[in-house]
Amino acid sequence: MKSSSAPETALQSEKDETANGREQAPQNNHLLMHMCCGPCACICLKTLLEEGWKITGFFSNPNIQPLAEYLRRHEAAEQCADYFGIPMVWDDASWDLATWLRTVQGRDTPPERCNYCVTSRMERSFEKARKLGCTHVFSSLLYSRYQPHEAIREAGERLAAMEGAPKFLYRDFRPYWQAGIDLSKEMGLYRQPYCGCVYSEADRYAKKLKKLVQASS
Ligand code: SF4
Repeated sequence: MKSSSAPETALQSEKDETANGREQAPQNNHLLMHMCCGPCACICLKTLLEEGWKITGFFSNPNIQPLAEYLRRHEAAEQCADYFGIPMVWDDASWDLATWLRTVQGRDTPPERCNYCVTSRMERSFEKARKLGCTHVFSSLLYSRYQPHEAIREAGERLAAMEGAPKFLYRDFRPYWQAGIDLSKEMGLYRQPYCGCVYSEADRYAKKLKKLVQASS
């Protein structure tokens, strides 16, 4: 049952809930799910498929570097798609290290870099969804505790407000954090040790470098 006291937004109005509280997909339910990686996507896929969404996965992540890491996460996304039996669209042509680094030049520290990173992927997702005739767009970035959640939400709402655009399925999956970890382990998915870009890979080892610098000075 919907709460009568809550203000009904356009997003809320097209959702419905079953007696046990689980939400149900609307009739026009072709969802393009931007998948940032297998571990983030798996619990989102499981939940949204159970709600009745017809899902096409979209892997568009030129921020994942180096290329060997991109390929590992690509494989994990493929494994995930096979497991849940969904079709995939791969945006591999968008991966170009030099282009990505040039694009973030001048905004290469958070939050600007990360805001650009998530917003640009939301833009590509809406563009692809429009071409494929999908009714809705969602991103597994909304599962992560480490992504700029509000920037993702704002981008989705802004893009959905454009003429002829698909709708944005906003859902906060962060409370499913542990369930997602458990499911990804159960599925044997590759779980990456850093966010994606070379900057985040360097951050991972920053303390070690600092120690070396201190020891050698
Ligand atoms: S840290 Fe993560 S979100 Fe931020 S720019 Fe790098 S890959 Fe993108």
